[in-house]
Amino acid sequence: MEVKDSFGRRIDYLRVSVTDRCNLRCIYCMPESGIPQINHSSILRLEEIQQLIELIHEAVNLRKIRITGGEPLVRRGLTSLIKGISPLAETVLTTNGILLPEQAGDLADAGLSRVNISIDSLKNDVIRKVTRRDVTLEMVEKAIRAAKKNNLNPVKVNCVVLEGVNLNELADMVLWAEKMGVTIRFIEHMPMTDSLCGYVPREVILQKIPAEFIKTEGTADMFVTPSGIKFGIIAPVAGGMCVNCTRLRLTAEGELLPCLAGGDSLNLRDKLRSGSSSTEMINAIQNLVAKKPHHGACGGVSMWRIGG
Ligand code: SAM
Ligand code: SF4
Repeated sequence: MEVKDSFGRRIDYLRVSVTDRCNLRCIYCMPESGIPQINHSSILRLEEIQQLIELIHEAVNLRKIRITGGEPLVRRGLTSLIKGISPLAETVLTTNGILLPEQAGDLADAGLSRVNISIDSLKNDVIRKVTRRDVTLEMVEKAIRAAKKNNLNPVKVNCVVLEGVNLNELADMVLWAEKMGVTIRFIEHMPMTDSLCGYVPREVILQKIPAEFIKTEGTADMFVTPSGIKFGIIAPVAGGMCVNCTRLRLTAEGELLPCLAGGDSLNLRDKLRSGSSSTEMINAIQNLVAKKPHHGACGGVSMWRIGG
């Protein structure tokens, strides 16, 4: 069944955070000390995640499911979850790529369609400063090659634009993406809880890309270079994105959120564990969708918790 919210948006895209843990500590996402310790039992088991995705699919008829985190590839058993959910809707994944070379083949065999890989600089010292871990460009390039080898195409790369960190590298990153055969998207930094960075608006991001790099402006946020490589700008803060938002988010603790910025939510874990019927849960999901706000303002939540 297709479900629209009260603003006529067809809600059919679910982002699922399978863990709030991560092997990195990006300065715009997590505190240096890591995330607060929470009781292991409050995190959904993989079978529960699958059950909840099936119920959400019954409630809204999903078109796409994105697996995210924390870092989704640190969650053991992820392949079996992907195998279980990929027949329902196109299943894609966002990762920092560190563990991808060893997992890409199994994930592709399990039905994963494609991946987005995050990297914010081409300079190892800057990558280390941003991730607060010993990550190198070579490690991320290896992840991209593994994704391509296993047909997890098209591979997209996410780069959060950070004042005083990578603003002077954007043109080089477009050229690098062209060389690697990936689509790069520059993301406006969102001032979430736990973020330590300055915000750079879309117009400034665009000014940093030389005019000769842009042959056509495909859509408002997708551009094409003279050699035909696309790059994008994702501007959640400058605005415009909320109007067309079709997303729901499920946290690793089973909270279903209709908006990244907070507001109404539904604890599906508690409903599932207390034995609520499928009909009751599907109705509750549809009621929540109806309450999806027209737009939200970021700031009161942590990105590692809701998965971007
Ligand atoms: N660990 C995976 C990764 O980094 O790709 C998946 C989870 S991460 C929370 C998902 C995406 O959110 C990444 O592309 C990351 O760069 C982005 N992100 C995290 N914090 C952000 C922030 N404050 N503003 C904008 N994007 C952010
Ligand atoms: Fe981890 Fe991704 Fe957050 Fe970086 S952005 S700390 S890789 S969850």
